[in-house]
Amino acid sequence: MGYISVAIDGPSGAGKSTVARAAAAQLGFTYVDTGAMYRAIGLAVRRRGIDGADADAIAALLPSITVGLAYQDGVQHVLLDGEDVSDAIRTPEIAHYASMVSAVPAVRQFLLDTQRGMAKKDNILMDGRDIGTVILPDAPVKIFLTASAEKRAERRYLELVEKGQQVTREGVLHDVVARDRQDMTRQTAPLKQAEDAVLLDTSDMTLEESIGAVLRIIREKTEGLQHEG
Ligand code: C5P
Repeated sequence: MGYISVAIDGPSGAGKSTVARAAAAQLGFTYVDTGAMYRAIGLAVRRRGIDGADADAIAALLPSITVGLAYQDGVQHVLLDGEDVSDAIRTPEIAHYASMVSAVPAVRQFLLDTQRGMAKKDNILMDGRDIGTVILPDAPVKIFLTASAEKRAERRYLELVEKGQQVTREGVLHDVVARDRQDMTRQTAPLKQAEDAVLLDTSDMTLEESIGAVLRIIREKTEGLQHEG
């Protein structure tokens, strides 16, 4: 028997990463945050002063960079050219760059093999936008985790304020809506629910309720499948 893959997709701010990380920890699965990989490429583009809309320049940059994940005490760290950029990628500016670079087909191709490779080595819970549709179409568990734009913006706002960032509610909601639109309308691997994914709307759920719901779905779908590793 192979390893078990759980694909969790959905828009930004649905609580996906927090819920996915907690569920993975409970199951003893490796948590893979693919958004962090797009953010690392966004950071590389930003640092080199490349225009986020210049797809050719972004594609040309790829052969000269490396993006990897490393795990320390079960916590994922994102490495850009070997440098730990886990904190540097968590800003609204880099989120914007990530969204821009993620529309470039060469960028998606660049990360595809790495992401598929991880699913071959471990039981994983992978969180992103196109995991159930493109990266792991055969995953036995697919969850589309979402919440209303207002709820997602409110959560993201509180998160950023807690980190000491200077943001407004209106600004964060504007960013959330803009990023949704960009992620859902891009040509390559747009954000959409896989046909065989379970839809989970967390608008009216607490964090604990969301984690519980995700775990229930995973247990239902994997009953009888063998865990390895
Ligand atoms: O999830 P996170 O907000 O960190 O993702 C940053 C950006 O990376 C998203 O707005 C999205 O455009 C892109 N992304 C993607 N495919 C994934 C994960 C993230 O296009 N699998």
